This record gives sequence, C-alpha cells and structure tokens, in this order.
Amino acid sequence: MKKLKAVFIGVDALDWCLVNQRYSHLNNLRQPLDWGYAAHCIPEIDYSPPSWITIYTGLPVETHRVRDVGHTELGKKGIMPWEMLHPYLWDYLNDAGYSCGVLNMPITWPAKRIDGWMVSGWPATRISMTPADLPLPDDYMLDAAAALVHEDFAQVEKWTKGPNWGLDLPPRELRDWIFRSEHKRVEALDVLPAVDVLFIGFTAVDRIGDLYGRWVEWRKDLMAAEAGEFFDQAHETMDAAIGELFARYEADVWVLVSDHGHAGGRTRYHTLDGIFCLWGTDVAKIRANCTNLEVAPSFLDALGVPLRDKPFEGASQIITLEDERAVMSQLEGLGYI
Ligand SMILES: [Zn+2]
Repeated sequence: MKKLKAVFIGVDALDWCLVNQRYSHLNNLRQPLDWGYAAHCIPEIDYSPPSWITIYTGLPVETHRVRDVGHTELGKKGIMPWEMLHPYLWDYLNDAGYSCGVLNMPITWPAKRIDGWMVSGWPATRISMTPADLPLPDDYMLDAAAALVHEDFAQVEKWTKGPNWGLDLPPRELRDWIFRSEHKRVEALDVLPAVDVLFIGFTAVDRIGDLYGRWVEWRKDLMAAEAGEFFDQAHETMDAAIGELFARYEADVWVLVSDHGHAGGRTRYHTLDGIFCLWGTDVAKIRANCTNLEVAPSFLDALGVPLRDKPFEGASQIITLEDERAVMSQLEGLGYI
C-alpha cells in the first residue's frame, strides 16, 4: 500500500440524501458517514462549474466569478475558469511544500503548471496535461470526450457550449463507456508519478443522471426505469472506484466531496444536497452541516496549513481529538461526567 499525505476525491453530483438512504448499502461510500465524518454540504448554486471552483478556492461565486464553462447566458455574467487568477487548493499546498497530482478534477481545463502534475477533467476539448510528457496508459480516455468514441473533437467543442454530448450513441454503449473511463482513471495511477497529495475526480453519477434524464425527455427509446437502473449502477461504479483507492493508499487525510446532489436517474435535475466527508489522523469528527465554502479551509486545516493569511469566508469544520478531550475535561470539571 502506498503512503500519501492526503487523497481528495471529488464525485460530481453525489447526493447527501441518496447516500444516506437509497445507497446506504454501498460500503465504501457509507464508511465516512458511519464514522461521523460526513456533512450535508450545501453549494450556493446547484451547478458544477461555480460549485467546483468554490470548493477549490474557498471563495464565493461573487468573488471568483466563474458561473459556467461556455458562452452561455450564465457564462456571459462572469469569467471562464481559465481566466481566474485566485489560488486553488493545489497552489496553497504547493506553497506549503506538498507536491500535488490532479487527475480529472472537473473544471480544470486547461491543465496548469503546478509542483507535481495535472490532467484536466470535464469539460475539455482534448487531453490537457502538465508536464506535457506525463505518462498515461495508452487507452486512457478523457472523461469529457464521449465523442472520442467517434473521434470527433468538433462534437466535444460543441458540447462544451451546450448539452448535446453523446446523444447519438446507443444508451448501453455510452453507459459502459462512461463506467469504463472511471476505472481507467484509477488504473492510470499505476503509471503517474508519486505525489504528496492526490486529487481525483469522478463524474459518472452526474453524467448518467443528466444524460439519461435528458434521454428520457428527448428519446422515447429509453424507458425511465432503465435510466433509474443506470443511475444505481453509476453509484455502484463510484463505490467500487473509491474502494480501489482505499485499497491502494494509506493517507493522513481523506476527503470525499460533491459539488451538488442529484434527484435521481428519472430526472436530470440537480439538488442542493451535496456531501462533504473528511477523516484522518487527529480528526475526531466534522460538523454535520456546512456549505461548499468550508471545504477548502477544512482540508488545509486538516493538513496543518495555516488559514490566517487566506481569503476564505468559510471556517474549518474539523473537531480534533484534542478539541474533544478539552470538552470532556471541561464537562468533568463541572461534574457532568
Ligand atoms: Zn456537478
């Protein structure tokens, strides 16, 4: 088992309510909840681009101004993610002396030069990585490029401007391709260079949820029940991928976070019910409710990176073992226990 300082897992659209109820049988997803390391995490907006950027920067949408990734109405109200100059979590960690590997985290296109390496994630018109000669398995497929199946980059370019990705593919073929790409990502870790902190993103839940929600609306050849079944399978795929990470790494700090929730495979609608889990050395538990502004300060706090000089609006949600001992001895002193 490899030893890392931290592993930060992003699962797009993992829903707090569904993980607690419909998917509570999935052991790897469930583990941090059982241990008290999970919070109902509410984003400002139930939309991936602004929410991920808030998670990475600890800044509200009004400050970072990323509202979309394409030239949509929302996009026109702000800036594109690649125009943003505020530091990301990996910048803060680099400053603190930790090298970072960033693999397929959403809204990181194009890849930026950092101490470590970066392979950009959804959405992207082509694989973008730094350094440019980073080793990747030959069959590594970029998450965003559903159209790679047709070797049609123009299709992906168009897709980044509107919701039309892969709609011409047969449902089962596209589903299998999405699931396979999540496992490929974990396999890519075999050849990527070692780092102190690994960020890894998975998007099957959101892609299946949104895509098949749309297909149910637009294409009558896919039954609603089948979309629900695919959505369940997306969660099983995530659970298996996370299990592979648990088996592969030992880390001082683990994070599992989503940018928003999802109502389920029968509709494409996002919810505000995101999830934030953090566990590791010295962490007794985390506060049960938070917003996505609290993810960045909590993660840095868990790694001992000072927050004083950072522009965060949220606070660390960690309750340390030391905090807990102090409370217990206070209660003891007052004669309660
Ligand atoms: Zn999302």
